[in-house]
Amino acid sequence: MCRGWEQEGILRCLLNNLDPNVAEDVEKLVVYGGKGRAARSHKDLNLIVEALKHLGDDETLIVQSGAAVAVLPTHPGAPRAIISSAMLVPAWSDSQSFWNLEARGLTMYGQMTAGGWFYIGTQGVLGFTYETFLALGRKHFDGKLAGKRVLTAGLGGMGGAQGFAIPKAGARALIVEVDEKRARRRASAGWVQHLTHDYDEAIALLHASDAPEAIALIGNIAEVAPRLLSDGVHFDAVTDQTAAHDALNGYVPIGYSPEDTRTATADDTAYLAAVKASMLRHGEALLEFRRRGSIVFEYGNNLRDQVRRAGLDEIMSIPGFVNEYVRPIFASGVGPFRWIALSGDDEDLRKSEDAVLEVAGTPGLEKWFELARAGIPRQGLPARICWLGLGQRDAVCTRLNELVAAGEIGPLALGRDHMDPASVASPLRETEGMLDGSDAIADWPVLSAMLNCAQGATWVAVGNGGGVGVGNSIHTGMVVVADGTPRAAEKIRRVFWTDPALGVARYADAGYDAAIQRAAETGLNLPRLTD
Ligand code: NAD
Repeated sequence: MCRGWEQEGILRCLLNNLDPNVAEDVEKLVVYGGKGRAARSHKDLNLIVEALKHLGDDETLIVQSGAAVAVLPTHPGAPRAIISSAMLVPAWSDSQSFWNLEARGLTMYGQMTAGGWFYIGTQGVLGFTYETFLALGRKHFDGKLAGKRVLTAGLGGMGGAQGFAIPKAGARALIVEVDEKRARRRASAGWVQHLTHDYDEAIALLHASDAPEAIALIGNIAEVAPRLLSDGVHFDAVTDQTAAHDALNGYVPIGYSPEDTRTATADDTAYLAAVKASMLRHGEALLEFRRRGSIVFEYGNNLRDQVRRAGLDEIMSIPGFVNEYVRPIFASGVGPFRWIALSGDDEDLRKSEDAVLEVAGTPGLEKWFELARAGIPRQGLPARICWLGLGQRDAVCTRLNELVAAGEIGPLALGRDHMDPASVASPLRETEGMLDGSDAIADWPVLSAMLNCAQGATWVAVGNGGGVGVGNSIHTGMVVVADGTPRAAEKIRRVFWTDPALGVARYADAGYDAAIQRAAETGLNLPRLTD
């Protein structure tokens, strides 16, 4: 046990990131998302663990890209750890410079919550995918996805969530996956109800019923999508989650196998030309589906930019999922809140869920908890994600800390994803198409991190390149350990008001009505709006 629950909470969350049931590759310290790691090396991991074990309540651990570089005297109200991962001077902030520096042991890619020590397994993306499809239903289908057909591709680490989320949101999905092993993994988790290699059987299954189910077709989307078009198969919505952001190892071209893609090298020009040609076919099919009336969007995998580079500019007219579906949620100051039961006791999670429902419950939230309890297997420490905004997060967290103080549950780590209204600047994803053109303005995440340090979050992390690669995003996360003490109550009261308030301010400043309204309702002092 560390010298206090704040330090212990950090340690347990760090080790949870590296739990074999949570991390993709424990040996390489890779937690998720390509090479998103929790520590720079095993030696660095040991140094961090030792530093946390001895860290006083008046000290702060300073972590530079996965390495403990200092323990400095601060004060009890300050964070116990601050973390910066993969940050580079802007003109050097490109993949090649970064990976060269990484190879020299000078930095580490932290993705978002891998290096920020608050990953909760696939659940994070499940909640996101579910909310995205609900929002799609609200926007285009009057909230009714029942009987609607969705075409998508990719049943990988994150894309696998589509098998769970699309049917849970009410629709019937055809998911094309080139790697049978990946599809079988999702089927064994219960997230895919039908799995077939046979195209005709897949189409028959698609039309056999309106039941919300996922059908996995083993095949290549660049081949299957044009075939579906020539057969006149209609889909209400079309997207994909192949790992198209990584043209070398993320997208299997026609005529190649998943194994070829895993071992492809950057000097294999024939292979790269095949990727380009396949992506182009895929992109052309997406545009044709749209011409025929389908709702088509990109699911945060950068496929559009790849297809544009392959020569099809028109692809950029397809919207990205954040701009289309998540933006209205962000614009009202709401984002993915999450928490972890540090005791490891499932009962603590259940009781804390009940408390969240008591304080901020809506029928939607109740339904999500029900689905999550029944359908999401536990990975590592018990954890839950749910979407809360300004006015809800502070109330919920205060109540949870009271339960800890009363001894009804053990200590909790309370925080959020790096994808939140103010905490990320990512012009190809989270901040694409902002109303005022502020897509690439990265002051907001920097301000977010500074604010959370000032308010005394237990740990605060900033990073470069989460989701879309180095140079393409800046983002920040924070966590407060609720150990039931008055000090935790004070930190919670401060952090969980100002953190979402900055989100409202960011969107109000960009001119979003929902945020301006929320700012007025909550009495935020936003000088530029009242001027
Ligand atoms: P992954 O590498 O684990 O999985 C990709 C899957 O696509 C693999 O199973 C692969 O076999 C399959 N695939 C590749 N080429 C294919 C093809 N031509 N036809 C059919 N299947 C093919 O990646 P992941 O973690 O699932 O993420 C997928 C992508 O989605 C990434 O680019 C990621 O950045 C993006 N993503 C974004 C968000 C977000 O913005 N919130 C969320 C989830 C995923």
